Amino acid sequence: MDWFVEYYNGSALMIKVKKLIFEKKGLQHIQIFETVDFGKMLVLDGKIQFTERDEAFYHEMLVHPAMIMHENPSKVLVIGGGDGGTVREVLKHDPNEVVMVEIDRNVIELCRKFIGIDRGALNDERVSVINEDGVEFVRSSKERFDVIIVDGTDPNPVSQSLISKEFYTICGEISDYFVTQSQSPFAQREFFEAILRNAKFRERRIYLGYVPTYPSGLWSYLIGSNRRKIQPDLETIRRRFEERRIETTYYTPEVHVSSFILPKWLEDLTGRVR
Ligand code: SAM
Repeated sequence: MDWFVEYYNGSALMIKVKKLIFEKKGLQHIQIFETVDFGKMLVLDGKIQFTERDEAFYHEMLVHPAMIMHENPSKVLVIGGGDGGTVREVLKHDPNEVVMVEIDRNVIELCRKFIGIDRGALNDERVSVINEDGVEFVRSSKERFDVIIVDGTDPNPVSQSLISKEFYTICGEISDYFVTQSQSPFAQREFFEAILRNAKFRERRIYLGYVPTYPSGLWSYLIGSNRRKIQPDLETIRRRFEERRIETTYYTPEVHVSSFILPKWLEDLTGRVR
């Protein structure tokens, strides 16, 4: 039995692993482990992407707030998210069309083969999977989307462009709501601040969730819109949650509303960085 260690900014997270199930070096170094307490775990370039035990905490909080704030999210773009967990949650809102743009074909194939957290979502007839850079896709696409969801890796050479001003500007023009995971504001403050500086929308909010196997566990998401208000209204959210018959393990309408209430240090930080 061995330990997998992820290092970040002077601290580290250790997960006890039973074995390395599969490994492949391509665009990214992909590793899939069987862990002792967290089920299967996907690691890209040494960074934990998800474990079976807490992936729903992340995927539900990335997807449901923006999807439920939209009265009719029928056309949805997912960028990244090759493991399929995000698309799985999007389908709970019964959209007409979902486009997933993932740069690394290996992530899709290996997650399907060895883990399967998409639970068939990537084979759904409403879902099309495109193997391309997300920035290239939005640059050349003439399509509009009700909701755009970015489920990317920590900024690295492959994903750096997903936190660029140009990318956010285009996404703001072609969507009603845009949401991206925005890293840990506590353990990865430089990434969080870079996202805040570049993601300019007429209206934007940060909200929080808890993901035990991400740096420090305190995880943030940025939602933005140039057209819509971002006001988490509990009555509307409750009504849509019931009408759409959404089943979750972490997200509830109450969690949604409370996740937008930030601790003072973070409220101060988001006010300062513009
Ligand atoms: N939940 C994870 C996290 O926050 O650690 C992210 C998981 S998901 C597997 C991230 C995916 O984004 C990866 O499969 C990666 O290949 C994809 N990705 C990174 N940069 C991308 C880009 N420029 N365009 C499209 N997909 C990208």
